[in-house]
Amino acid sequence: MNITDTHTHLYSEAFDEDRSQVVERAIAQGVKRFFIPAIDSTYTDGMLKLESAYPENVFLMTGLHPTHVKADYEQELEHVRDLLAQRKFYAIGEIGIDLYWDKTFLIQQQEAFKKQIHLAKEHQLPIVIHCRDAFDEVFEILEEEKGEDLRGIFHCFTGTFEQAKKAISYNMKLGIGGVVTFKNGKIDTFLNQISLDHIVLETDSPYLAPVPYRGKRNESSYIVNVLNKVAAIYEKEADEVAQITTRNSEEVFGV
Ligand SMILES: [Zn+2]
Repeated sequence: MNITDTHTHLYSEAFDEDRSQVVERAIAQGVKRFFIPAIDSTYTDGMLKLESAYPENVFLMTGLHPTHVKADYEQELEHVRDLLAQRKFYAIGEIGIDLYWDKTFLIQQQEAFKKQIHLAKEHQLPIVIHCRDAFDEVFEILEEEKGEDLRGIFHCFTGTFEQAKKAISYNMKLGIGGVVTFKNGKIDTFLNQISLDHIVLETDSPYLAPVPYRGKRNESSYIVNVLNKVAAIYEKEADEVAQITTRNSEEVFGV
C-alpha cells in the first residue's frame, strides 16, 4: 500500500510524548508520505526537526494559517518570504479564510490570503486552502486569481456538490478526511459523482479523527479509515484508491 497523507500536523504539541511511535505506526500502515502544513512562525523549528528525523517521508509547506492572521500579519508573511528564499517547500499552506472563530480580522485575512497566493505563483507552488464558514469569501478571491498558474488543494473539503465543482474549476483537488466517515458529514452523498482524479486523502491530525476514533486525537495511521470509506463510496479496492490519490498528490506537489 502506498498512501499519502496530504495534511498532517505531526509537529503539533499533541504528539510531543510519542511522535516517533505515531510516525512509525503510520509508515507500518503504508503511509509513506506526509505533507506538513504550516500555521505560523512559532512552529517553524518543530517542522524543521520533524523533517530532519524523517527526510524520506516528510514534505514541508510554509504559510500563515487564517486563524493566526492578526494585526501584525505582515511580520509573519516576512518570515514566510524569508523561508522561501532559503530553501525548498512543497506548497504555500495552510492559507485561506476562517470566519467560524472570529470575524475581527476578515480584511487582514483576505489580504494575507491574496498575498500568499501571489507568493505561490511567484515560486510556482501549489496552495493548500483552509476555508471555514467562508466559501463566498474564498471563491471571490479564487475568481480573481484563477488561471494556469494557480493550483492546489481545498483542504478538509466539507461543502456541497456545487461548491465541489466550483473548487475543481479553479484547479483545486478536494482534500478528503475524517468528515467523510461521519454520519452527518454529507459529502459521502455526492462524492462518487466526482472523478477520483480530483480527490486527495488527508487526516488533518491531530484534529478531526475519523470514525471509530471520532472525538479522540487523530493520527496519520487513521487515514486507513478514510481510505476504506472513500473506497466504499467509489466501489473500488482500497489499494486502487490509495494509488490514484497518491498519484493526484504527486501531480499537485510535483513530488
Ligand atoms: Zn490543518
